[in-house]
Amino acid sequence: MTTKPEKRSIQELAIRVNMVIIPQALGVPGNISMSVLRNYMHEWGFMYRRHKKDIYFDGHERLDVVAYRQEWAYEMMKLKKFMDNYEGEEEDVVVSLELPDGAPKIVMNSDNLHKQLIDDAIPLFENLHPGCQAVFLFDQSSNHHAYASDALVASRLILSDKDLFADKEPIMKEGWYMDGNKRVWTALGVQSILEGRSLGLWDKYKKEGKYWKTKCGEKEPNDDATCCPFHMLEAQPDFKEQKCKLPEAVEDAGHICMFYPKYYCETNWIERYWGGAKAISRQECNYSFASLRNNLPSFLNRISPAPIELEDGSAFQPTPTKIRQFYKRCWRYIEAYSELKDEKENHELVAKFTSRRFLSHRRTGVHD
Ligand SMILES: [Zn+2]
Repeated sequence: MTTKPEKRSIQELAIRVNMVIIPQALGVPGNISMSVLRNYMHEWGFMYRRHKKDIYFDGHERLDVVAYRQEWAYEMMKLKKFMDNYEGEEEDVVVSLELPDGAPKIVMNSDNLHKQLIDDAIPLFENLHPGCQAVFLFDQSSNHHAYASDALVASRLILSDKDLFADKEPIMKEGWYMDGNKRVWTALGVQSILEGRSLGLWDKYKKEGKYWKTKCGEKEPNDDATCCPFHMLEAQPDFKEQKCKLPEAVEDAGHICMFYPKYYCETNWIERYWGGAKAISRQECNYSFASLRNNLPSFLNRISPAPIELEDGSAFQPTPTKIRQFYKRCWRYIEAYSELKDEKENHELVAKFTSRRFLSHRRTGVHD
């Protein structure tokens, strides 16, 4: 035990009490549970204080982040109308919704790799839930926003045409623009693409004796995207409609793709799943990597039980109570955020739903 006494977590304290203090004092191994210890801590005058850094990170109150969070939560609430819900003490009662004719049931999902998505996740989902539409939720890591190698991305082009073809293969799929009613295909450099669309301000600048700078150097374009050729091309409809490759794969397969709001992991139930498994692994840790590796599947299964094979060869799926509780808890936050309440109101609203857990007296709060 290397942690200083005043910095020990309740898990570390339990290990110390059971493995050092009780054996030394009584000569037998200790068996004090975490909840008993928590009650004693309370009795001894210790307070449980939520460490906000566990959940929030700098930037979570930025206006654009809050606006995205609300818009996302509002869209999620619309989708929730097409999803199952869970009730009962053990979350074992599945409440299926009456769907309007032709509306597919929607099932939540989450994954992170393009190949895994195409080869495994989408086919697996379609096998498990035939006729249903999936919502694939990704976090906002930058590789989740990556573009396909042939995507229409202006910043991958150069101004002139000549280097556009590498080994005579176009490095970018052809774009299009409308000439009257006709769709015209292009595979050119920025200048030719713009001039082919009767755009570009080279002549205008030249007449004024000035030079239209190739790259303005700003991250965002000016209001009408005339600051430079690259921003002007980026604002063209075909370049604007170019999706990143994850949404492209999901939407091409007829499913829904969404990105979690930044900094709001309380709306992401997979984070709660990892959190639950981590809490068990901390309680049962013996500080050996080999045992952690051996025990990890069982820690995960205790949060979301795997199917059990029965003697007759059939499989029994125990109710995944904890996962369903996490699921419902996330939805409470999403619902609160969809109504654009502030931070304090959101927590009060969620606490009201979950006050049941604080009713037992002498019990200090459990980490959210
Ligand atoms: Zn610009």
